[in-house]
Formats: sequence, C-alpha cells, structure tokens
Amino acid sequence: MLRFTSLGSGSSGNATLVEAHPLDGARPTRVLVDCGLPPRQLATRLATRGLLLTDIDAVFVTHEHTDHVGGVLALQRRGGLAVWASAGTWARATAKLQDAPTCHVARDGEAIVIGSITLRPFAVPHDAAEPLQLTCSDSQHRLGILTDIGEPTDTVAQALQGCDALLLETNHDPDMLAAGAYPVWLKRRIAGQRGHLANGQSAALLGACRHAGLRHVVAAHLSRQNNRPELALAALRGALGTNGTQTSVADAAEGCAWITLD
Ligand SMILES: [Zn+2]
Ligand SMILES: [Zn+2]
Repeated sequence: MLRFTSLGSGSSGNATLVEAHPLDGARPTRVLVDCGLPPRQLATRLATRGLLLTDIDAVFVTHEHTDHVGGVLALQRRGGLAVWASAGTWARATAKLQDAPTCHVARDGEAIVIGSITLRPFAVPHDAAEPLQLTCSDSQHRLGILTDIGEPTDTVAQALQGCDALLLETNHDPDMLAAGAYPVWLKRRIAGQRGHLANGQSAALLGACRHAGLRHVVAAHLSRQNNRPELALAALRGALGTNGTQTSVADAAEGCAWITLD
C-alpha cells in the first residue's frame, strides 16, 4: 500500500510525505519530498498525521529554492537521515546545508531505492541550477510529483505516464497574474518557460498523461495572490472529463489529508 500527504504547498513552504507499507508487514518506509517548512511547523504537521520527525527515513530535495529546502538543514542535523538532491542543487545549497556523509547525489533518469519506495527523478525546466521532479512507487502503485516547472514538456509527460495519482502544480491564472500587483519582472519570471505552470498548462499536461487508472489528482503550489482553488480545480477537471478521477487541492498551510493507493 502506498499513501501520501502534503504537509504544505506553495511559496510559503513545500513538503510531501510518501509512505509505503511492504506486503510482508515489515516496517513502512517514509520519504519526505522537499522540506520548506521550519522544524517546529514540520513536527506539528507530522503530529497531526500521527508521526514524529524520527519516522522519516530520507528526504528528496527537488531544487534549492527556499520554499523547498529551507527546513532541510535542521532535519539533516539529526544524525543518519539521508538527503538526496541533484549535484546542481547541492552546489547551490551548500551554504545552507552541512557537508555530511548522508548527502546523496540524485541524477535525471536514475532510480533511487529507499526501503520499499523507488524514486525516479526527471529533469524539468525551472529557474534553478538542476531541478528534478520525480515519481515514487512501491511494487504496485505510482505517485507523480510535479511542482515548480515552467512549461510542460514531452519528457515530463512521458515520465508521468501510468501514475495512479499526481500531485500537480497549478500555480496561477494568467489573467489574475497579469492584473495583479506583482512587479513586471516577477510576472515575466513566473509566466516564463522556467517559471511556474498556469492552470491551462497543467490541464494540457494532465490531458497528455491521463488514463483509466489515474485515481487522484491533487492541485499543488497554488499562488495565493494569482490563483483560486476553484479555478485550478476547474482546469484539471476539464482535462480529466468524466473518467471518475478524484481531484483536491493541497492547501498552503494545511496540505491535504492522506490519499491511499491500495
Ligand atoms: Zn516552489
Ligand atoms: Zn522553485
């Protein structure tokens, strides 16, 4: 059984917990994808899901932006916790992260096995040194995690084929971004090819990787200023049609409840 929960999503801090229970009843494996939350906040949000910091086996950091890496140093100070990130992410983040034997280098297209969970990172266009997003799977199910990507690409759509669930960035509504208070340079960056996905771009990507076995799509990394949950959901539902896939939103402060794939 594979399940996941967002502990928070968006520019104020991202963290997604993925948990796999082996069929033989052995101890579950838990991987945290990104940790942009301060330690106390992370501990509180884990506690509401019945877990402690010590229950996490490894952290995968997608890229060096503070909303993804800001809480990793505090986690890494706890001995023995493996942290995975691309070489480019490590190079940019070393000022923030300790040089520890638990630092591991993740590479585009190379599977990483952590207990019962296999991570498959893939490269994405985003304004960071070497950003990776990923799928997480156990022996039966697969979750695709995709936040912080400027535009959908064929490679990304290919990497997400056949997933049972997707945590998918729906960052902004283009009209709200254009009419909003952000400075012009920031609007260009967000809407650019290495920025963030507009609702329509997320819908197009979803249209390219939807299939009958896709059971859940979670809208993620929504901009508080430039999007509304109902707009993001409407775009995703439009792409899904009537095939019964459930949709929900990962909230900035609350994340989302556990979603179980069994
Ligand atoms: Zn981000
Ligand atoms: Zn980013």
